[in-house]
Amino acid sequence: MDKIIALAKRRGFVYPSSEIYGGISGFWDYGPLGAELKNNIKRLWWQTMVYQREDVVGIDAAIIMNPKVWETSGHTSSFTDPLVECKSCHLRFRADKIEDNRCPNCQAKNNFTEEKKFNLLTEVYLGVTEPKQKAYLRGEITQGVFVNFKNIIDSFRVKIPFGVAQIGKAFRNEITPGNFTYRSREFEQMELEFFIKPEEKEVEKWFNYWTEERFNWYVNLGIKKNRLRLREHKEEERAHYAKKALDIEYQAPFGWSEFEGIHHRGDWDLSRHNLRYKDKETNEEYFPWVIETSGGVDRSALFFLIDSYQEKNGRVVLQLNPLLSPIKVAVFPLLANKESLVKKARQIYDLIKRKFITIWDDRGNIGKRYFSQDEIGTPFCVTIDFQTLEDETVTVRDRDTTKQERIKISKLETYLKEKINQL
Ligand code: ATP
Repeated sequence: MDKIIALAKRRGFVYPSSEIYGGISGFWDYGPLGAELKNNIKRLWWQTMVYQREDVVGIDAAIIMNPKVWETSGHTSSFTDPLVECKSCHLRFRADKIEDNRCPNCQAKNNFTEEKKFNLLTEVYLGVTEPKQKAYLRGEITQGVFVNFKNIIDSFRVKIPFGVAQIGKAFRNEITPGNFTYRSREFEQMELEFFIKPEEKEVEKWFNYWTEERFNWYVNLGIKKNRLRLREHKEEERAHYAKKALDIEYQAPFGWSEFEGIHHRGDWDLSRHNLRYKDKETNEEYFPWVIETSGGVDRSALFFLIDSYQEKNGRVVLQLNPLLSPIKVAVFPLLANKESLVKKARQIYDLIKRKFITIWDDRGNIGKRYFSQDEIGTPFCVTIDFQTLEDETVTVRDRDTTKQERIKISKLETYLKEKINQL
């Protein structure tokens, strides 16, 4: 983890938030490469979950909602974690994450206060007149979908079974933020609420379907299958809204850890918000049941980084799927002080830049430039050398094989496109 955290900071993936003022626990800023990585994850998720399907639409709801939403959904009373305090060092912890009843800070054993319920919702105060109106930063993005259920069925031609997808920020006043970005107080979720007929056989069908879809999505993007597992929640572990819950877990350096949950929420939310569905063909009216897939953008980004991290002969290579790589192509003139080479390289850079996220580098020697790109997962480096000036070819160096191929400039775009867009 230390190596990942150091690389993330040094190369501009993730910085501690407001670091010059000492940081703030549970908040992180994404740098130029981190922002690209997250955008890639979100775009690929949206492509798979919305654009490639006929039965899912996407929305983007507000972060702050009428507080009645959270009262009705049960979050103000039940969105809690068990809190204990160590009587020796007085630090507070989440009781269900403590192993062997031993304090993670001072190692004191069996010396905790009684468990208290600690609500995770973050309060905000709005308006100019006192008392100000209390509201909450959303603790999960899901509620924005449920409260718009009627709006969506009235304004869009959707028919059960169908889904509503959303990506956005959520906030939780986590008791112990930690493991880098894994447990933050501000994070991004990517979620699908899939509405089905209230029948057990439909649950069985769609729960299994979405579990498989989501599991395969990560595998197709390169996460090693042997580092993934599915784990069903025991009854006492389940969130207040869930009838059945299963986690997709990754074998992180800090242990098996959830990064996406598949939940059968039943009609918990729609019945509380009193939002029914009317089947236009049969005139049947009912509260649909919901199968939810709830993934974390930050946890995915972290696990993609961890999973792709390789050390080869003391050098770091991020073997990210090219679709996830923040930079797709780096363009180098062989020598920075030969005007003819630089001019030609600039022309190629300008050409490629319009199609792929491309970076220019003319510092140091070519070897160093390759290693610098390997470290951030750039799949292809294009070098313009003296032969380029003679025969209009460039060398393309592949990050994973380190092999170099000579490619005609006229074929370069097609060549890169084929290699980068493979999924
Ligand atoms: P945990 O048990 O780790 O607290 P959870 O079961 O409360 O997680 P869900 O409510 O199912 O998590 O949230 C769905 C997804 O949102 C998680 O799988 C995760 O990817 C993301 N997520 C939840 N809490 C956090 C957090 N504090 N920091 C980063 N991502 C989070």
